[in-house]
Amino acid sequence: MQATVLSIAGSDPTGGAGIQADLKTMTSIGVYGAAAVTCITIQNSRGVTEVECLPPGLVHGQIKAVLDDHRVTHVKIGMVGNTAIAGAVRDALAGFRGEIIYDPVMLSSTGQPLLQGDMQGILELAARCTVLTPNIPELAQLSGAKIVGGQDVRHHAGLLLERYRSLRGVLVKGGHAVRDTAIADHLIYRADGAVRTMTLSHPAIKSGNTHGTGCTLASAFASFHCLGGDYVRSFQQSVDYVQTVLKQSAETRIVRNPEGQGGMLHHCYRPGHENS
Ligand code: PLP
Repeated sequence: MQATVLSIAGSDPTGGAGIQADLKTMTSIGVYGAAAVTCITIQNSRGVTEVECLPPGLVHGQIKAVLDDHRVTHVKIGMVGNTAIAGAVRDALAGFRGEIIYDPVMLSSTGQPLLQGDMQGILELAARCTVLTPNIPELAQLSGAKIVGGQDVRHHAGLLLERYRSLRGVLVKGGHAVRDTAIADHLIYRADGAVRTMTLSHPAIKSGNTHGTGCTLASAFASFHCLGGDYVRSFQQSVDYVQTVLKQSAETRIVRNPEGQGGMLHHCYRPGHENS
């Protein structure tokens, strides 16, 4: 029976981030994507002007409807919006035994808050997941600590693995700490009873279409893992995927706003050209 990857995330009408980016990523990689919406946002490359969080029961019902009828092997969570929705997501996933990959979104890429209230809901949801994919500011929020360099990243991601027993990996996205035009992404994971780290360093790609890279990386990780990879292989493939799509869409303008960042052009992805 066909496997389904379920995205639980907010809607971005421009198609750059949120459920739209998740579904495009899944489709271009070649897995079946389903989506349960948590919040509706009004936004474009100038910013987020409105966020409407859906009633928690509606979010719960969407998730249950998919779980009851599909063979869901992977769930990818993005923006939950508030504590009540985080609780509804947790409840709906109570009996789910597959992979739960959580991108703990708190801010839009244009700087507006995408989480109402405190961190409690996010922390309780994180405790149920198998993989977290924070960027560095999100890792700092989850850890309650200042993160300066790669050593801090490894240390605090390792503490999260100690704190949450169901957690098997923390993929830390380095895009927010661009220094010397190089980016380092880290995977801190459990293997053979030990905590290991893998770091992938790559040049920062200059592009006008970077909106949604966080959502895309987390969805790509879920998709490649669904196709049979292990954590390390899925990490390598998902970083390659983001690099490839960024390169393949770097020259195209997609938004009228000259200062704005457009979404990535997932439909341009051609497998097998990861390093071109
Ligand atoms: N989810 C939604 C609905 C968003 O609008 C955004 C950013 O604006 C994000 C997630 C996070 O986007 P990014 O992948 O750029 O961090």
